Amino acid sequence: MTNHAHDTTWTVGPYEIERITPSVYAIDDVEGESMYLICGSERALLIDTGSNDMSILPIVRDLYKGPIDLALTHAHFDHMYHCDAFSRVYLHKDEIKAWKKILGLVVQVSAVASGKKAKNYHVGDFISLTEESKISLGDRIISVIAAPGHTPGSVIFVDDHDKLLFMGDAIGSGDYAWMWMPGCLCLTEYMETLRNLQMELAPLSDYRMLGGHRKQGQPFNPDGYVLNTEIIPDMGILCGQILRGETHPIKEERNFGFLTYLYRYGKAGIVLRKNKIR
Ligand SMILES: [Zn+2]
Repeated sequence: MTNHAHDTTWTVGPYEIERITPSVYAIDDVEGESMYLICGSERALLIDTGSNDMSILPIVRDLYKGPIDLALTHAHFDHMYHCDAFSRVYLHKDEIKAWKKILGLVVQVSAVASGKKAKNYHVGDFISLTEESKISLGDRIISVIAAPGHTPGSVIFVDDHDKLLFMGDAIGSGDYAWMWMPGCLCLTEYMETLRNLQMELAPLSDYRMLGGHRKQGQPFNPDGYVLNTEIIPDMGILCGQILRGETHPIKEERNFGFLTYLYRYGKAGIVLRKNKIR
């Protein structure tokens, strides 16, 4: 085992590891994907896997000696590529449902488009989560907030012990939310989620939000924002403006062949395809 007792940040191959609390690590890969390891008294929970060629499993094994389970914020390639290395995988029930309809295909296409080998995932064997689910790690319990939009079963994981919110891509990472992909919900559905999040996260305003690509926000990226609850009302206003045709895109670009548009309001940004404006 490597002894990192006195370091707060160090690198192992393509991964940079930061100890953000005494028992939680942020693990960033060179692709800009952010994973988190929550170390409980009985077991640990890894949030997402990233997609680097070098599996994250040996990295987390070095950080925690007990059993390590995996919880996915959502079923996108860059968050779940190495999920086949874990025997216990948690995923929201709506994501499991959407896997067969669209997400499975999106993940396979994304893998190939990124030059990786497409893998056959046994999503039917995953443990299905609901908003009532509690994942016990011994001395702490991780709970679930549903945040559909970026995908139908996107979730936020809540760690009350260390006051952390693991956001995945639900509202972006401090720059903009990607809502253009096949499988993303439409804007009216996303607005409903934003209203719910505003209520559910209000009592947790002192919690630290950790995005699925945290280096896209401040302090890492001066053009981004600190990911926090202020983005949510701004995102709601932005969605309303887009639906009513009161705002215009500030940038147009092709993402994987799809024509997409970037809109901004306040601290919120959103990247859309025209077919999501309904
Ligand atoms: Zn995503």
